[in-house]
Amino acid sequence: MLHKISPTHPRANSLIIREKLVEGFRNGVVIPEGLIAHGRGEAFDYLLGEKTTKYACEAEKVAICLLLLSKNSVISINGNTAALCAKELVTLSNITKSKIEVNLFHKSAVRSKTIARILKKEEAKEVLGLDSKSRSTIKEISSNRKYVDNNGIMNSDTVFVALEDGDRTESLVKMGKKVISIDLNPLSRTAIASNVTIVDNIARAIPNMVSISKELVNSDRSYLLQQIKNFDNIQNMYESLKMIRKGI
Ligand code: ATP
Repeated sequence: MLHKISPTHPRANSLIIREKLVEGFRNGVVIPEGLIAHGRGEAFDYLLGEKTTKYACEAEKVAICLLLLSKNSVISINGNTAALCAKELVTLSNITKSKIEVNLFHKSAVRSKTIARILKKEEAKEVLGLDSKSRSTIKEISSNRKYVDNNGIMNSDTVFVALEDGDRTESLVKMGKKVISIDLNPLSRTAIASNVTIVDNIARAIPNMVSISKELVNSDRSYLLQQIKNFDNIQNMYESLKMIRKGI
């Protein structure tokens, strides 16, 4: 049960996000480490004024262009992302024709199934990452995130990892995949290794990406390609870092 948060509270949105994660924790979707990871993100968000910057918006647009152009894109979902924006992630996967795969750092069959159930309740057609028969291993990774689905991440061209750890992002890039990540910390290894890094809170970024994808879904291929060509990920992250410095 979410605590009632007054909409007039100056930091209402941030508190609502916290409450959703606490509820996710109580429902077995989020683990304690996920709450700690969120805390690190919150610190950066505070410095960004808890708003989506124009640079994040640019990166979100380019990420959508990449998803729409990809032949075999996959959205990777963990506990925090499911707790914060399951519905919007399913919508995004439908519009961009991306598959959905549950992939957890702290693996647990029960938690994976709980997350899959939430996604299916939001009308996800198929949720990958649960069937051990189609499981393969990314050799370079030592954590549990090395297990991926043959029908999903293993054979994808683009992976929208959303919240991720640096090891796996680096490995996916080495495997030749295009990686899109969301990370409020532009200095993390995930942020630096990704092809498109969105420095924004996932709770704002995903709904924003749904709106952008609705606008772009029927765009010409040449237009989408041009947006990607014009985008400089390092420069974009640098601009976000400058905004964080300004916040300090
Ligand atoms: P890396 O391995 O990439 O260097 P890390 O070890 O610093 O990352 P992790 O513990 O793997 O970090 O994950 C936490 C990361 O997730 C932090 O960088 C934090 O900024 C980011 N994060 C947490 N919650 C959110 C959120 N709601 N939106 C966006 N980013 C978030």
